[in-house]
Amino acid sequence: MDLYEYQARDLFEAHGVPVLAGIVAHTPEEAKAAAEQIGGVVVVKAQVKVGGRGKAGGVKLAKNADEAHEHAKAILGMDIKGHTVHRVMIAQGADIAEEYYFSILLDRANRDYLAMCSKEGGVEIEQLAEERPEALARVNFDPNTGIDTAKATEIAEQAGFGAEQVPALADVFQQLWTAFAAEDATLVEVNPLVKTGEGRIIALDGKVTVDENAEFRQPGHSELVDEQAEDPLEAKAKANDLNYVKLDGEVGIIGNGAGLVMSTLDVVAYAGEAHDGVKPANFLDIGGGASAEVMANGLDVILGDDQVKSVFVNVFGGITACDAVANGIVKALEILGDAATKPLVVRLDGNSVEEGRRILREADHPLVTLATSMDEGADKAAELANK
Ligand code: GDP
Ligand code: MN
Repeated sequence: MDLYEYQARDLFEAHGVPVLAGIVAHTPEEAKAAAEQIGGVVVVKAQVKVGGRGKAGGVKLAKNADEAHEHAKAILGMDIKGHTVHRVMIAQGADIAEEYYFSILLDRANRDYLAMCSKEGGVEIEQLAEERPEALARVNFDPNTGIDTAKATEIAEQAGFGAEQVPALADVFQQLWTAFAAEDATLVEVNPLVKTGEGRIIALDGKVTVDENAEFRQPGHSELVDEQAEDPLEAKAKANDLNYVKLDGEVGIIGNGAGLVMSTLDVVAYAGEAHDGVKPANFLDIGGGASAEVMANGLDVILGDDQVKSVFVNVFGGITACDAVANGIVKALEILGDAATKPLVVRLDGNSVEEGRRILREADHPLVTLATSMDEGADKAAELANK
């Protein structure tokens, strides 16, 4: 589960990480009151679970409470990368001298944890990692010993900080490690970690992901779930036990098996390059034994996404053979009736593939196109999404 910045801020504070005052607000009036309470210059920050809010106009400096009111009015309701802003955080303004980057994450490939640090923070770290990898220190560490003084020092030194800066940074790295470990996090990212004009180190932005598998020993985490802001499509999918993740593109994807769905996303993204860059709209794995009802529920969720222009159904018949899947698609279209309005490209392979294709050909539904291969299907779906 990803946390909002204000939740990350509170959590940091609880574990002794230096942060500035921050109050969450749902209306411009609340924002104004919060700004009055904090006093002085404040920053109005959109609370959405995506990065790059600054660039999108979701982070604005306010010299006084009236300006905070004005900025909150502009930011609340704003759409940032498909996320509507329902709340802002009013944060105490910082006098920023320098911006750094620091993160701790689970490194699955190495079966341990990884700390990353750079003197060049505030910018998009993916870009930095690609363009100037030498500017980003990467230090793996043992989860059992964590980040102690020696490890924290090593991280700061490897990032190129001078001896006068290392001790203060090392303290904050250890505090962030404490927060990471105590909260069963899989990611703690601070970008920027700033040095103020007075030389204090402060976590100015926080991105935290906590491990849902640790729920049993983290009773406090249930309070961090934000049901209201949950994506309505994701909520609907969850209610139907579907494994669904909404993405930003136009081609709806349904497949069976997480691996197949993942590769379908890749193939569609690649095919989309030839069709004005259309992209996959979601991840949806209907699993091995998909019935007509599951197919209907899946289609229903995907067709409910306004951004979707076409759907690619990519199924490999295994436990459930292709004829059953084909019948599922036909029944699903019957169940959905007029709610089904977008073209469907279907690629079947595996057990009883001929029978499955025959069923779809005979049903001859005007919205359905059959594809013989994954590449062909992806290309067709991308083409239809671009019409
Ligand atoms: P993000 O764009 O979603 O990562 O949001 P951030 O919280 O990182 O804010 C973006 C940028 O706004 C930061 O890198 C800072 O440069 C700037 N910023 C945020 N808070 C303050 C503040 O209190 N004072 C000043 N001067 N700049 C700030
Ligand atoms: Mn940031």
